[in-house]
Amino acid sequence: MSLLSIAATLQRAIAELRSAGSESPELDAQVLLRHVLQCDRSYFFTWPERDVPAAEAAQFRALLAQRVQGLPIAHLIGTREFWSLSLLVNNSTLIPRPDTEILVERALQLNLPAQARVLELGTGTGAIALALASERPDWQITAVDCVAEAVALARKNQQQLNIPNVAILQSDWFSEVSAQQFDLVISNPPYIDPQDPHLQQGDVRFEPRSALVADNRGLADIEHIIAHAKPYLTANGWVLLEHGSEQAAAAQRIFEKHRYNEIHTVQDYANLNRVTGAKA
Ligand code: GLN
Repeated sequence: MSLLSIAATLQRAIAELRSAGSESPELDAQVLLRHVLQCDRSYFFTWPERDVPAAEAAQFRALLAQRVQGLPIAHLIGTREFWSLSLLVNNSTLIPRPDTEILVERALQLNLPAQARVLELGTGTGAIALALASERPDWQITAVDCVAEAVALARKNQQQLNIPNVAILQSDWFSEVSAQQFDLVISNPPYIDPQDPHLQQGDVRFEPRSALVADNRGLADIEHIIAHAKPYLTANGWVLLEHGSEQAAAAQRIFEKHRYNEIHTVQDYANLNRVTGAKA
């Protein structure tokens, strides 16, 4: 096959992705080609007429074919940006979402001690714990996940980012967390209703169900965390949870049922209810 220029390669890929129903064909094509050529955005605009070498062209076509099948971009390139961090990603965990940055932001706004102790439940890639730790080097953060591969991935991210103040361990919610008290328990737990039709669309088809779906219309793990957190909280300790945009009232009711105080909900950047928090 004769060589194609960068511009022609992108043009063909965009057409292919568009006819496969991609919602972001330009971005997908650019991100994948940038990954293969290991270049930055400006390279494409500076050298559109340069040929894509044969080996890279073959690699790009292979990635494109997988994207056409729906595989998440993050899985194809192996990384995803979250907060200010570039995180390794694989199919053992949820792919970090921009929505979750609101959870990090809210945690940073809470009036916590300078050397706060924080517990993150269901850390996946480590995104939330590592973002908090990078912003607050004096906090001591414990992050747990029940999936061994997720623990390994989160530890790898910690190592690569060189963030010392996080301890990552395998635990099914609180099961392996030793008796101690935290100023904040934070989580983006699974919260999708098992019947939700969105589970058949987009990236979620390639993410582990255990990171996405919870019984009781998606509320089972939210309730488990709220019901079991108190012994792990200081007198004024907070619980802060991400949830679906339709679940704020239900999350608030669960906090009320378990007699928490200062229950409040925070909207994400799309003005959707996304995070509910309360004090012990
Ligand atoms: N926000 C994710 C989605 O809707 C779900 C994440 C989760 O269950 N914690 O795809």
